[in-house]
Amino acid sequence: MSGKALLNIKDVYKSFGINEVLKGISLDLNEGEVLALIGGNGAGKSTLMKIIMGIYQHDRGEIFVRGEKVTSNKTSAALANGIYMVPQEPMLFPNMTVKENIVIGFNKKNSELHKELTDLMKEVGWNLDLSRKASSLSIAEQQMVEILRGLLRHAQILILDEPTSALTFDEVQSLFKSVNELKAKGIGIIYITHRLAEVFEIATDVAIMRDGKIPLRGEVSEFTREALVRGLLPPDAQDKENDIRENLKEVDYSAKPVFELQNFSGYGFTDISLKVYPGEILGLAGVIGAGRTELATTVFGKDKVLGGKAILEGKDITGLSTKKVMEAGLNYVPEDRHYHGLFKLSDVAANTTSAMLGEKPMGNFLLNRKEEYRMTQKYIDDFRIKVTGQDQAVGSLSGGNQQKVVIGRSLSTSPKLVILDEPTRGIDAAARGDVYAIIHQLRNQGVSVLLISSDMEEIVELSDRVMTVCQGRINGEFKGEDINQDNLMAASFGITKDTEVGA
Ligand code: ADP
Ligand code: MG
Repeated sequence: MSGKALLNIKDVYKSFGINEVLKGISLDLNEGEVLALIGGNGAGKSTLMKIIMGIYQHDRGEIFVRGEKVTSNKTSAALANGIYMVPQEPMLFPNMTVKENIVIGFNKKNSELHKELTDLMKEVGWNLDLSRKASSLSIAEQQMVEILRGLLRHAQILILDEPTSALTFDEVQSLFKSVNELKAKGIGIIYITHRLAEVFEIATDVAIMRDGKIPLRGEVSEFTREALVRGLLPPDAQDKENDIRENLKEVDYSAKPVFELQNFSGYGFTDISLKVYPGEILGLAGVIGAGRTELATTVFGKDKVLGGKAILEGKDITGLSTKKVMEAGLNYVPEDRHYHGLFKLSDVAANTTSAMLGEKPMGNFLLNRKEEYRMTQKYIDDFRIKVTGQDQAVGSLSGGNQQKVVIGRSLSTSPKLVILDEPTRGIDAAARGDVYAIIHQLRNQGVSVLLISSDMEEIVELSDRVMTVCQGRINGEFKGEDINQDNLMAASFGITKDTEVGA
């Protein structure tokens, strides 16, 4: 049975302009509950959390903390009420150290804080150098800093907004361990995730959010995985994806390859040879750090070629500038859309069409506004991007929708080959389905795709053929039935049938 009520949300509404994002949300959280909140991109999860945190104001409805109605809607009041949110995108001060970032705002002696913090880190089993500059941290490490900030504040209501999307397996396990400890202490946790497996692994309760409402809430034990999937997807989505899948064309391996690498070498990878055929999705599997992103950025003219050749449609593109490579018909959608892929402040229309403008991304004076709007509308419709209008700032879109804008943008140049680098990292199940549908559509239009992904399920689901990359070299090729997670995982870690781990 559940403990005392920590948080009661009653009939909350919120609109941004004409876009009604929350349509009468009621949700309760009790002591010792881990409530998984799942839902498609743009469903309104982050907005609801930001309202609880006092970052956004709701238009209607009431919020109670430990039975008392919240009257102040300031963030400081939420913090004083013991609510702490780890945001989806970490917000650290890049020039401050890890420790400075964690203890900022505390009125306590430095030595005391230092002890509490090191004890806390020991307790959750995380090993972070406190003196490092935040700007040198990986996304996973930034997340850890954010979580430590909340834990150090003894939050009673902890909100984790997709905390594991950028964490490694070990980091996730230690996060789960600390979540379990917090739960045992009676802390209530709202855990937003797009990974259904995590719901069953860590949550006591689950709520599904769809289109600004919560159609389903209950104890996890009441639900099967299938029931949750059904609850998540809009009723027609599954049919659409099945239709596309049934109509997938066969790859013609006797055709001339669209793209070829011959003994291609650069920083982080060596002697890579591969061919991609028309309309083929070639998966490049591997672990993070295997050298695949470096391979992509080198092909794309961002890094130096150290040897070998890159050929696109018979044309030698080795060592050409990014602009020339794009003109030749190759486009690259980078892994970290927050830093490379998007111009957060500009609007959706400018972003979708900016790839056509070559080196002058912000110079939308080159395209007439009408043409820009026409093309943008096409992508918004095709990819089901959830926006209030074309002039909505991209930074305010949810992660999956941002990713769709970036992929839309890469297609506006009609490329022959698109390199997608971790295209669905950090986005939820429903948006993931949309991105897969986009990739299948591309394939059917004859565009070839080089798919870099560390998500083996994704590689298996999408690829016509797979090559594995381990420590900068290709060490395996898989076709047909051999494309399965076991084979790919083993090869990615450099394990073959004859050798053991570490051998
Ligand atoms: P989720 O976290 O479930 O993916 P969000 O709460 O981020 O969803 O977004 C819900 C909807 O609200 C989206 O359509 C998004 O574009 C819109 N939205 C979120 N923040 C803003 C904002 N600051 N201004 C305008 N629209 C916003
Ligand atoms: Mg969100």
